[in-house]
Amino acid sequence: MYDKITDPNAKCSALKVNPAIEQPNQVNKDFLQKPSKSKTLTINDFVSGILNKDRIILSQAITLVESSRYDHQEKAQKIIEQCLPFAGKSIRLGITGVPGVGKSTVIDVLGTSLTKTGHKVAVLAIDPSSERSKGSILGDKTRMEDLSTDPNAFIRPSPSAGSLGGVARKTREIIILCEAAGFDVVIVETVGVGQSEVVAHSMVDFFLLLQLANAGDELQGIKRGIMEMADAIAINKAEGENKQKAEIAAGQYRNALHLFPISESGWKPSVFTCSAYSQDNINLIWQTVNDYVIHTKANNYFYKKRNEQNLKILSESIDSHLKENFYTNPIIIKRITEAKKEILENQISAYVAAQKLIEVYFNNINKEEI
Ligand code: GDP
Repeated sequence: MYDKITDPNAKCSALKVNPAIEQPNQVNKDFLQKPSKSKTLTINDFVSGILNKDRIILSQAITLVESSRYDHQEKAQKIIEQCLPFAGKSIRLGITGVPGVGKSTVIDVLGTSLTKTGHKVAVLAIDPSSERSKGSILGDKTRMEDLSTDPNAFIRPSPSAGSLGGVARKTREIIILCEAAGFDVVIVETVGVGQSEVVAHSMVDFFLLLQLANAGDELQGIKRGIMEMADAIAINKAEGENKQKAEIAAGQYRNALHLFPISESGWKPSVFTCSAYSQDNINLIWQTVNDYVIHTKANNYFYKKRNEQNLKILSESIDSHLKENFYTNPIIIKRITEAKKEILENQISAYVAAQKLIEVYFNNINKEEI
């Protein structure tokens, strides 16, 4: 068998030294201008820095939001609170699709065309892979070569620690900071894996699903839920020979969407082909977003959805706080271990055990006034 490893003539052999190529500048040079001063900054310094559109201070504030340290969180919450009155003015655009569909390439082209027309674009990511593998499906900011060096763009990879719920909370808070710093377009990128797209959908105004034209049944393997959430479906890589296949796929999606009931927004999802390579229809993405915003602002759905999203944060926060308080209560920790043993030995049913634990918890907090 041919062995690339032992063949010194093979192009990719480790024994052959290839000439070095100059790497593109991967870090926005604005980030390198000033040394980190996060330790000495007061809350007021952070807030005025963010409102003055200081990207370095914005980055440092985001680092506080992402930190799990109690003192960082306390500071971050105060900064967010003071930024909140200045937030909410951007258009929040979610983009989802399987790895390789072209999300980062499309965002790079779309974002660059937006900054050229005077917009300020922030790109955030929700990456379900980072929690488990510590690696990432979405990768980092270096994927968007033009945008990562664009002074009017700000790219922040997914917070890498914590549960999906935790990442979601942090991303919502980062959106507030970016908006207060003057970014008028916030793109939230996620992979259509697990629940991450549901989470991304819960924090954006418009949700774009990127798809590919594959051979065979186009609609197979696509979660119905994702299609239901999409305000537009764009079939990417529609250039050259692929264009025709992409148009066929687009037709199939249009037909499939006809079977879905009209959503509460009254918006009929658009389906079109696009290509990040030829840049065909990339501007149509933005035009569609604008049409949607005009449509939903006219019928008030835009504001209703944002209000609902905010109220959902309230209930989610209460849920997670109660849960954490319950599971970290020392008496519960002890009793839960005993209950698990009793359940496995068939001494008690799981329902009764749960009921008892909850009773113990409430009796306990009432006494101790936690
Ligand atoms: P992501 O994983 O969804 O972010 O996908 P990427 O943006 O990293 O793209 C995956 C691959 O598809 C890369 O090799 C891109 O160069 C390529 N790609 C992205 N957009 C297009 C396109 O419009 N046409 C073609 N032919 N390839 C594309």
